[in-house]
Amino acid sequence: MGTQTFDAVVIGAGPGGYVAAIRLAQLGQKTALVDREELGGVCINWGCIPSKALIAAANLVEDAKRASNRGIFVEAPRVDLAKLREFKDAVVKKMVGGIGFLEKGNTVSVVKGDAVFVAPGAVEVTGAGGEKTRLEAKAFIVATGAHPIELPGFTFGPDVWSAREAVDVPELPARLVCIGGGVIGMELGTVYAKLGAQVTFLEALPQILTGIDPEAVRLVQKGIRQRGGAIHVNAKAKGYERRGDALVVKAEVEGKELELPCERILCAVGFRPAPQALGVEAVGVRLTARGFVEVNEQYRTSVPSIFAIGDVAGPPLLAHKASKEGEIAAEAIAGMKSARDWVALPAAIFTDPEIATVGLSEDEARRAGYDPIVGKFAFGALGRAVAIDHAEGFVKVIGDRASKLLLGVTICGPEASDLIAEAALALEMGAYLEDVALTIHAHPTLPEAFMEACKAALGEAIHMLNRPERPRKADTGATARA
Ligand code: NAD
Repeated sequence: MGTQTFDAVVIGAGPGGYVAAIRLAQLGQKTALVDREELGGVCINWGCIPSKALIAAANLVEDAKRASNRGIFVEAPRVDLAKLREFKDAVVKKMVGGIGFLEKGNTVSVVKGDAVFVAPGAVEVTGAGGEKTRLEAKAFIVATGAHPIELPGFTFGPDVWSAREAVDVPELPARLVCIGGGVIGMELGTVYAKLGAQVTFLEALPQILTGIDPEAVRLVQKGIRQRGGAIHVNAKAKGYERRGDALVVKAEVEGKELELPCERILCAVGFRPAPQALGVEAVGVRLTARGFVEVNEQYRTSVPSIFAIGDVAGPPLLAHKASKEGEIAAEAIAGMKSARDWVALPAAIFTDPEIATVGLSEDEARRAGYDPIVGKFAFGALGRAVAIDHAEGFVKVIGDRASKLLLGVTICGPEASDLIAEAALALEMGAYLEDVALTIHAHPTLPEAFMEACKAALGEAIHMLNRPERPRKADTGATARA
């Protein structure tokens, strides 16, 4: 077995690990990046990027269908799944190639194989053919992500898909049951609904997309219903059986047994990390009670030479959080004083309408001791949104009543995932409601809705009537079943 020596070895080449490796190399560290699969991790290979390729394609199908609103008549779109898959694969290939180019250009050594810690300063990497290499380094970054949870009775395979199978669009089932009304269930379920499947969602909790503003959730539910889908909340999937050509999912919905015939099942009930497989515990790395690697504000674990970032280091499981953590850990390894100090961690959910959030919700602001004021502006009153025929949704801003400091933003509507960037910048810069309200926004554009919502919080919105604040109704977080 050969031994190679580096300043730093990064294990896992997802958006945490591949970014960390580039940053380490930029800072003059001789770096290796190890992964058993293609570069890019879940995000590039079967998560964020391919799912967005599918979502954009599914939107095209739907836009073509509703173009008649605007006097444009398109024949009923026909979806060729093989061609769609080919496009999605080409997108992935291009991005994977791009990461390889960047690692090489930054002189990072990419090592393919399975890494296991054999000492706090060494891992053993086993390649596909069984060949072993020992990598020694002063520092290691564990960036091995997380994996879909398999529910008992729902083994992943041709009948029961995880996100990984679903994103490969192996077929278009007439009926799809999505177990889990979380981010993946709602995003991919919506894709299949738009491509023509009848989709039923089963969510164990009282609301799909737990933690998201119930008003935004109601709009997503409405969209699912309009596409012929159904949502059952307080619903637990118990198992399934094959009956003839169909599968029958058995569920308990609000205490009653329900049988749901379908052709395929998508099981998206969360992700779980598996750092144990890397042998980290054997070299002294402590895990949290929930199985994540315990880290400090520089992402250093209980073993000083080992860092952990991204999904394996704890929620929220977001690619951009992993990348930021990768940069911080790399800088810490290079001797810089970088540490976790962000104000704003945006999140974007690619449902229809899209939902994006950053900062505090109204309830969180209250729990944090603020007396919040809320400003809301509907896309229905915004020229650009109406002109592009995507006028559903709203921008809601939360501010501190006393100081008028901006505390949080929820956007539900067209391009919410892009619009949230301005809100994240505003929070990161410590903006007040006035700062956004006084900033001239180009017209006619969707970001004007953020400016108007900040003005609305101050009682100064122009394109809506400023009504006196109504007494607040208790927010139960519960939503009606779609
Ligand atoms: P999730 O945690 O978002 O949702 C899982 C859902 O399944 C939960 O609502 C849970 O209550 C439900 N559930 C659990 N057991 C169930 C059962 N037996 N029957 C019915 N429902 C059940 O997890 P996910 O959707 O699998 O996504 C995995 C991770 O990836 C999440 O942390 C998510 O935030 C992240 N992700 C983010 C994005 C994005 O930011 N756009 C996209 C995809 C995934």
